[in-house]
Amino acid sequence: MPAKTNSDKLVTTSGALLPFIESLPDAVVIVNTDHKIALINSQAENMFGYPADSLKGSDLSMIIPDRHRAAHRQHVNGYFQNPVTRPMGEDKRFTGMRADGTEIPVDIMINTICMDGVRVAMALVRDVTYQRELEDRLTMESRTDEMTGFYNRKHFKTQLEAQHSGFIRSGLPASVIMFDFDHFKTINDQYGHAGGDLVLIDTAKIIQRELRPLDVGCRIGGEEFAIILPNTQLQSAMAFAERIRQLVERKEFKVDHHSFHVTVTMGVASFSTEDSSYASLMKRADEALYAGKAAGRNRVVSQDSLTLQP
Ligand code: GH3
Ligand code: MG
Ligand code: MG
Repeated sequence: MPAKTNSDKLVTTSGALLPFIESLPDAVVIVNTDHKIALINSQAENMFGYPADSLKGSDLSMIIPDRHRAAHRQHVNGYFQNPVTRPMGEDKRFTGMRADGTEIPVDIMINTICMDGVRVAMALVRDVTYQRELEDRLTMESRTDEMTGFYNRKHFKTQLEAQHSGFIRSGLPASVIMFDFDHFKTINDQYGHAGGDLVLIDTAKIIQRELRPLDVGCRIGGEEFAIILPNTQLQSAMAFAERIRQLVERKEFKVDHHSFHVTVTMGVASFSTEDSSYASLMKRADEALYAGKAAGRNRVVSQDSLTLQP
């Protein structure tokens, strides 16, 4: 629904309005131009955790989290200067604050009306905790590999593209490690598909413990993984890859009373000014990985050791 200019067509009195807003399913907060709550229904007081009839006359900031107060104040002032009806369900995310200080995600529909001879803003406020949680969960699920909890190939590409933009814009370095298990078919043959899965899950756990907050661990194929290391030069990425390679090599995997070890081969690449897209970096890391396989596996190979193709 497009936003439209509001012309204060509703002219009413607080006495007439109160029974109407009390009959609505949504919380309603009516605010003066000086940010004081002129009228509020019991649904709103209940939603924000206040006793009935306690918020009227209070400053609106009572129900706004501290960190949003200044921006919200400006927003309200701007709104009174240029009142545009804002429908519910827009992309913008708003947050309210309860009496106990906890936050509450809300959707707001706002309008100006004329009440008791003065212009006020009437906000219909809806608790959207459930919708936000659902949205966040769906977004997370669309980015994640269910088995390992690592990010999936799609998210890997999105993140790598963002890193490439950062590199082009401000020269921020970034590296990527791609790796593939050695002779994984044999692991499946010996310990079953479930045994192979366990190796993938446990390896993801080993790596996760080593990652910094901004590093991105991904499962980009069946038994192929990748790690994006933002703000990291090739040399440090090589050292990190070698540490992970050793941790995997030393790990004792256990399936049905059998203990065994696995190894991985890794390719490492960093952005260069010649990369026209993130795909060139992926290609270099992949080539380094396959050079490592050809050289005997269980090793880390840098893009720098590749023979440049004409
Ligand atoms: P290489 O050292 O050359 O990589 O040998 P490899 O046997 O690991 O060969 P490759 O990487 O081509 O084969 C991967 C095998 O991994 C084939 C496939 O059956 C198995 N695989 C792929 N995805 C999964 C998975 O999710 N779980 C399990 N258990 N196995 C998988
Ligand atoms: Mg493979
Ligand atoms: Mg393999």
